[in-house]
Amino acid sequence: MEPIIELQGLRKSFDGQEVLRGVDLDVHQGEVIVILGPSGCGKSTLLRCLNGLEPADSGTFRFRGSELARGAPWREVRQKIGMVFQRYELFPHLNVMDNILLGPLKVQRRTREEAEAQAERLLERVGLSAKRHAFPRQLSGGQQQRIAIVRALCMNPEVMLFDEVTAALDPEMVKEVLEVMLGLARQGMTMAIVTHEMGFARAVADRVVFMDEGVIAEAGDPAAFFAKPQTERARRFLDQFL
Ligand code: ADP
Ligand code: MG
Repeated sequence: MEPIIELQGLRKSFDGQEVLRGVDLDVHQGEVIVILGPSGCGKSTLLRCLNGLEPADSGTFRFRGSELARGAPWREVRQKIGMVFQRYELFPHLNVMDNILLGPLKVQRRTREEAEAQAERLLERVGLSAKRHAFPRQLSGGQQQRIAIVRALCMNPEVMLFDEVTAALDPEMVKEVLEVMLGLARQGMTMAIVTHEMGFARAVADRVVFMDEGVIAEAGDPAAFFAKPQTERARRFLDQFL
């Protein structure tokens, strides 16, 4: 089957320093890819290139078989690729429902009635229906992050990207967010996840991609990767989590 997203030879530099040095990656329908690697190896940059937040310097990007060049209709593609960040980035002056509905109403021009019905269903799914009128400051970090996930899902994305979404949370809130992501994976959502939660990574991944210094150093089946990584760098990386 044709991949949803195909990256070939992706390169990206900041201030003359090459951060992505030729990345090839395919993301297939329903696949959960977990991206691991040491701090600074280019994971966030790769995710940002994956949804066009960051234009690559060279390489090709195909979405469902169509190549997207610079100046291409990224706006449309970006709507199909939801992203959630380490910092929840909810709008502080909007309540939960208005945060969620902003994209569906303003960008997608859907009716309030229809979008709100979907938002209600999603809020129920993450156990936060009661918070629909709350403001972000009235929510815990874990609750805000679950709302950020709902906000992305309410755009009906075909792919979801998660960049260390539990890294800024107190430990007791990590699980409630990971469980939402596990639920999405079980329902067949296509996802690329950057995380340092190794137990979760092993449980959720269909494929592990290990990055080092701007390239994919190894990629493969999670059971094999965690049992016996092929590269010295990945072995050293995993040793930190023992
Ligand atoms: P990771 O997410 O794996 O920790 P990043 O993709 O955030 O790595 O960063 C990779 C490298 O690129 C780092 O050296 C970082 O400082 C640099 N970098 C990332 N974004 C920018 C930017 N907008 N401007 C300049 N340098 C950046
Ligand atoms: Mg990062």
